[in-house]
Amino acid sequence: MLGTGTPGPDPDRSGPATAIVVNETSYLIDFGPGVVRRIAAAYHNGVTAFGFGATQLHKVFLTHLHADHTAGYPDLILTPWIMGRRKPLDVYGPTGLKAMTKHVTKAWELDIANRVHGPERLKTDGCRVNAHEIRPGVIYKDRNITVTAFPVRHGEMKGAFGYRFETPDRKIVISGDTAPTETIIENSCGCDVLIHEAYSQETYSKVSRKWRAYRRRHHTSSKQLAVLAKRAKPALLILYHRASPGGERLPDPEQVLLDEVRRHYQGNVVTGHDLDVF
Ligand SMILES: [Zn+2]
Ligand SMILES: [Zn+2]
Repeated sequence: MLGTGTPGPDPDRSGPATAIVVNETSYLIDFGPGVVRRIAAAYHNGVTAFGFGATQLHKVFLTHLHADHTAGYPDLILTPWIMGRRKPLDVYGPTGLKAMTKHVTKAWELDIANRVHGPERLKTDGCRVNAHEIRPGVIYKDRNITVTAFPVRHGEMKGAFGYRFETPDRKIVISGDTAPTETIIENSCGCDVLIHEAYSQETYSKVSRKWRAYRRRHHTSSKQLAVLAKRAKPALLILYHRASPGGERLPDPEQVLLDEVRRHYQGNVVTGHDLDVF
């Protein structure tokens, strides 16, 4: 777990970013703000598959285009390149990813030109991005991993995906941001790990009507997630992307969320923190 936060700038919870490591190869899901710093911290903790400065990370999957999941994009494109990445990045995500990639690269064109033509003489290949706009189904496969994208329900955000990752020994599903949907159950039935977003009923009851309606359309409550997990039966359920508003006065909003899920779900469930390894 690299970043388990939301749009709220919580210094303990970086923007959404999750990595899967298979046979010393790393795969990244989402690039919220802070992503490259968190990767560097994970590297220092022993997750060496990223390479120093994320130079060995080449395959990236984006759930949707919201800023909390994408604000680390220039960092992901530029920093590892400056640190020595030589090969292009492959990024898979919804329609709109190509335009975002083009604009981000354009925004930093002066710096890129300086580093290519100045004394550093960096090769342009390392800051190139192959942006792949995807449809539901198998979107990527190599000898370590098969990646399946499936649609989720995230209010008016078109093209929001969850992903199923199948490796030689594990099936891992990540929800991205979503209201409860059957596609999560279809894809996570009997999986080893389900990483799912959630908000607590307790915080929900403390936010304004407008934000309650927003959460219902875009996100999943503790109780809804418990109902869903009962059907999907993941060996391990990890909660992430926990909403903060409404929890300001609770002594331990994380525990509140966990207790609410456990009230309705008897399976193995934990909350994810930045830099946790499962
Ligand atoms: Zn989000
Ligand atoms: Zn979102």
